[in-house]
This record gives sequence, C-alpha cells and structure tokens, in this order.
Amino acid sequence: MTVDVEDYFHVSVFDRVVPRDSWRTMESRVVANTERLLELFDEHGVTGTFFVLGWVAEREPQLVRAIVARGHELASHGYAHRLVYEQTPEAFREDVKRAKGLLEATSGREVRGYRAPSFSVTEQSMWALDVLLDEGYRYDASIFPIRHDRYGIPDSPRWPHAIQRERGELFEVPGSTVRLGSTNLPVAGGGYFRILPYAWTRWGITHLNQVEGQPAVFYLHPWEIDPDQPRLKVGLLGRFRHYRNLDRTETRLRALMRDFAFAPLEVVLQGCAEALAGVNGGGR
Ligand SMILES: [Zn+2]
Repeated sequence: MTVDVEDYFHVSVFDRVVPRDSWRTMESRVVANTERLLELFDEHGVTGTFFVLGWVAEREPQLVRAIVARGHELASHGYAHRLVYEQTPEAFREDVKRAKGLLEATSGREVRGYRAPSFSVTEQSMWALDVLLDEGYRYDASIFPIRHDRYGIPDSPRWPHAIQRERGELFEVPGSTVRLGSTNLPVAGGGYFRILPYAWTRWGITHLNQVEGQPAVFYLHPWEIDPDQPRLKVGLLGRFRHYRNLDRTETRLRALMRDFAFAPLEVVLQGCAEALAGVNGGGR
C-alpha cells in the first residue's frame, strides 16, 4: 500500500493552472484528507508507505509525525513536485536532498524510498537513479512499465528488482501491471483504480498474487477521496483523469482493504532482498 501525500493543486496536470508561487494562496485540504486515510487504514489494520511531498512536510510537520506514529513507513515524493525529466540532474539533486532532510528532521526516521511526481523516471531520466543513490536513498518507486503519454518504460521489469548502477545497487519498485499479449496494462492504483470498475483492480491483484506469485503495488493520493475539493479549470482529459469518481473512491478503498492484505514497501522489499540473496538477512 502506498500513498503520495500531496494536495489537489500539486498534481502535474495543474502545473499551468496553479503556478508554484501561488500554491501558498490555495485552500489546503491535504491534512484532513490524509487524516481520513489514516483512519481508514487503522480501521482495516492496514499499514503502508507514505511518499510525502517536502513542500507539505515543511508546512505540516505534525502530519508527518502522525503518519509515523500510526506505524507507517515515511518516504519522499521530492520537494516541489517537478517532473524529473524536466529538471537538470543538479536541480533534481537539490530537490530530493531537501525533501529527505526535511522528512528526516521532522520524523527522526531514516527515509529510504523515493517516488517521482507522475512516475517521471523514464528512459530520458535514468540518471536520477544515480542521484538517488548518492543522496542516500535505497529504493525508487517511479518506473511504470507501461506506455503512457507522460511516463513509462514499457520494457522495464514488472516486479521489484535490484538495479546495478556504477555507484551501487538501488531497488526499483514498479507500478503494478498485468501482461496481455505483448502489452502491460496498469492495474493497481490512482486513476486506474478510480476510473475503471473495481472489478478490474480486484482481478488484477488476484492474478498477480495467485497466478504470478507477486505482490501488487497499490498507490493512491489523499485528494482522491475528497469529492468536495475545489474544481480547477483544465482541459477535458485532465478533468476526466482528476475528477472522475472521486465520490466512489472511499467505498472502493474499503472493499480493497477487505479483499487484500497490505504492508509498507520496506517490508515487501525486505522479502524480495532476502529472496534475491538466497539467504536470510542477505540482500540490500
Ligand atoms: Zn504526486
């Protein structure tokens, strides 16, 4: 179970509608929405990984501490929600360093994981993995092995795996897909969970778990359970992707948590690392 903790106006589709220098003037709903998620998770005995945006952590330190206090893993969604492939390596380094420093100072915990805004680690921005290793991150969850207009590396491995880089080994935790013919289709989270019927997600995760013997990586944003959020003016596709079925997501999430068991990524990865090393306590 993973959550990208950001406000509704941080989403990349609104980049041109809500410029960064006006973020401070927007009505913030991230605390209430994240607290609602924390309650739902508690009710169902679910723990997960929360990739918190540094900009949010800076303004809402008590939210970061609440996440940790409820037994969840704290991870980084970067600081300013800029797409990786639109940044220089230097700017990206500053962004992920600032986010990690803030989150660790606020929580007193080591932050090991990173997920890029809009899964923006692509073939053009694989250098980001070296920067993450340099900055002390242990795993990345930003590569989606699908074709999409904004992200994706279609032939990237579908399971959590170790990537060897010159500077060391980084674990990659891809978004979940099912393979149909030669195509990978996304099955577990975000718009795919909200827009497509719940039966698709249920079938997909069951297939991954029971047929392929693998964990599913589910992701969600706090704004996805908030049907009352202010409506921002974007094009038709953006509107469809962001606003569709917001009023149904909480009910679906309850069903999902009844149907499947979840854990934080650090727990799932520990299992993968041990399997890769072939012995208990190996890996990493
Ligand atoms: Zn995001």
